[in-house]
Amino acid sequence: MSNKTPSDNTVSIKTRHEFIKTKIAEAIYAANRADNEVKLVAVSKNQSEEKINTLLRCGQQLFGENRVQEAKRKWTSLKVTHPNTRLHLIGPLQTNKVSQAVSLFDVIETLDRPKLAYRLAEEMSKQNRKLPCYVQVNLGEEKQKFGIPPANLDAFIDLCRNDLGFEIEGLMCIPPASDDPRIHFSTMRTLALRNNLSGLSMGMSADYESAITCGATLVRIGTAIFGKRDN
Ligand SMILES: *Cc1c(COP(=O)(O)O)cnc(C)c1O
Repeated sequence: MSNKTPSDNTVSIKTRHEFIKTKIAEAIYAANRADNEVKLVAVSKNQSEEKINTLLRCGQQLFGENRVQEAKRKWTSLKVTHPNTRLHLIGPLQTNKVSQAVSLFDVIETLDRPKLAYRLAEEMSKQNRKLPCYVQVNLGEEKQKFGIPPANLDAFIDLCRNDLGFEIEGLMCIPPASDDPRIHFSTMRTLALRNNLSGLSMGMSADYESAITCGATLVRIGTAIFGKRDN
C-alpha cells in the first residue's frame, strides 16, 4: 500500500483500520466470544500526529504509546481536542517518569516490579488519579528484560491489590518472537484465571487473531493499521 500523498495516506489508514476491525470481529465470532469482549488498542508509537489524526477521524478512541516523552509531546494537545481518547502506556516505565505518566495516561499496562508499584501508588494518590493497571508478565523469562516472572506473579498481584490498593484489570505480555505465541497466550489465560483477572492484553499485528482465540481482551496493533513506523 502506498503512502505518498496525504490523501492516499488517509485512504490507506482508513482501509487498514476497517480491515483489522473486520478480522477482529471474525476472530471473536470464530472463538464463540461476545463482540464487546475484545478492544483494539491502536499503537501509535513512532507515528506522526498527522497519521494519528487520520485514525482519530476514523473513530478510533483507544491508543497505545510506549514512551512517556513521545506520548506527552504528541498527545497533550490531541487529548484536549479529542477528550474521549483513552491512552494506554504499553512500554517500560521508569520511576522518574511516573509523575508525567500518571497525569497523561488513562491505563498503565506495564506494571512489573514492586519499586514501580510503590512509586505509582504514591503518585496516583498525590494526583488523585487512580489508573487501572495491567501487570506485565515476562513469559520468556531469561530472554526478556521487562515483566514479572510467572513464579513471582501471584505475590506481586497480591501486593498491588491488597497492600497498595491498585485496580488491576488484567495481565499483559509480549511473547518472545522466536516462540509460537499460542503457547504463551494459553499460559497467560491460566495465570489470569488463577488470579481472578478478566483482562488479557496480548496480540500484535502478526498474531492478534490467535490471541483472540486464546482469550485476549485487548489487542495492541500498530503497523497493520498505520503501516511501517516513521523511525
Ligand atoms: C510496538 C508495540 C506493539 C505493536 O506492534 P505491531 O507489530 O506494530 O502491531 C504492541 N505492543 C507493544 C508493547 C509494542 O511496543
